[in-house]
Amino acid sequence: MIVGAGFAGYHCARTLSRLAKGAAEIVLLNPLDYFLYVPLLPEVAAGILEPRRVSVSLTGTLPDVRLVLGQAHNVDLDARRVAYTDPEDREGTLSYDRLVLTVGSVNKLLPVPGVAEHAHGFRGMPEALYLRDHMTRQIELAGATDDEDERAARSTFVVVGAGYTGTEVAAHGVLYTRALARQNARLRDGPRPRWLLLDVADRLLPGLDERLSRTADRVLRARGVDVRTGTSVKEATADGVLLDDGGFIASRSLIWCVGVRPDPLVASLGLPSDKGRLCVDEYLNVPGRPEVFACGDAAAVPDLTRPGEVTPMTAQHAQRQGRVAARNVAASCGKGTPRAYEHHDLGFMVDLGGIQAAANPLHLPISGPVAGAVTRGYHLMAMPGNRVRVAADWLLDSVLPRQGVGLGMVAPWSVPLDTESPEVARLPRGTTGTA
Ligand SMILES: Cc1cc2nc3c(=O)[nH]c(=O)nc-3n(C[C@H](O)[C@H](O)[C@H](O)COP(=O)(O)OP(=O)(O)OC[C@H]3O[C@@H](n4cnc5c(N)ncnc54)[C@H](O)[C@@H]3O)c2cc1C
Repeated sequence: MIVGAGFAGYHCARTLSRLAKGAAEIVLLNPLDYFLYVPLLPEVAAGILEPRRVSVSLTGTLPDVRLVLGQAHNVDLDARRVAYTDPEDREGTLSYDRLVLTVGSVNKLLPVPGVAEHAHGFRGMPEALYLRDHMTRQIELAGATDDEDERAARSTFVVVGAGYTGTEVAAHGVLYTRALARQNARLRDGPRPRWLLLDVADRLLPGLDERLSRTADRVLRARGVDVRTGTSVKEATADGVLLDDGGFIASRSLIWCVGVRPDPLVASLGLPSDKGRLCVDEYLNVPGRPEVFACGDAAAVPDLTRPGEVTPMTAQHAQRQGRVAARNVAASCGKGTPRAYEHHDLGFMVDLGGIQAAANPLHLPISGPVAGAVTRGYHLMAMPGNRVRVAADWLLDSVLPRQGVGLGMVAPWSVPLDTESPEVARLPRGTTGTA
């Protein structure tokens, strides 16, 4: 049984079904019926890709896997049972012989006043759809008002956290809102929408190769993004953001991308963890529990290429760990031999929108349109489905103007920053489900 169908869970299920050839029942428990290709989520928020393009059908691409729709809320390790709630709020339990936990991560919060109330994260589809609508509406309201201050505030967008998520959101967001402003007769000749990207670190993309940081910094500044390193938020209010240097930015948009923390299900297991990630050995096995495996963002996997460290939370690692976990589960059932997880980082790609990217495939730094093409080619190859649809959207976007319409389907209260389930929008009465 695999809990969570993200990068790690999806690839675990796929490899396992190939290895098992029908000799085992593979159950995949996930709240939704698709694998979300998260790295392209900023393109959904910016109106380049339609949401279903980055959502790959689980039943369509994993025919030999039994999909159970639901959210695990309790794992009884001794009884080998997982309790879950299905999308219609019904309770269920599933028994397992082998368990692979791949529940990923959720938005990280910092104790900054007002942030939980006024900021939105960027981890799941509902947040991407909300942000697309929100940006669209702010530009429309900015065009509708005669109040100069209100217009300026509605045209100002603040992103906190300049890791790859915040950097990509700001890079795409500035292009999207400017495209919308150009389409709006009352804004066309006025000041352009303003974007700020803040980070406490001294450079963009703090965890990545410095050459990527320099490229991203150059591209964003050339686009007019106000990049402020060494800066943080002291307080968020409905009218704007108070910075730690005393400055106040009037804005109705605070996008919180300060990072992620492991899914809270891990803490409920009562097993040893490292910064919230479940401790496993190099075989992705939970010590003392030979039938339990874990990988991806939710697990602290020893990084054999950097002794003493754990692997970073990236799709690159999660996907490969999922495959290794599948092999080791099969080995624990007598098929094949277990393999230790060891993977040398192959570099990183940061999509900066337009035809720009900052990338270092195989640690070779590239930028500009070449990096943009390599990044898109990589994403197409890495996606387990929907490739033609994604390529078709990119083609359409290169020749047609962006569609400046907000569907208004995701309300701000349904995508709270503090949530254990960023993959589902909150519904009234405190229940969860798809919006
Ligand atoms: C905007 C953005 C851009 C990114 N870009 C890149 C990039 O370019 N390159 C890169 O390497 N990494 C990137 N990442 C990071 C990457 O997406 C993650 O490291 C990766 O998704 C981790 O994979 P995972 O399988 O551990 O978790 P996830 O992909 O998050 O999957 C977890 C799955 O578990 C499910 N789940 C959660 N809780 C439960 C539960 N209780 N019961 C059942 N199911 C549950 C979730 O619904 C989800 O399907 C990006 C992240 C973001 C947010």
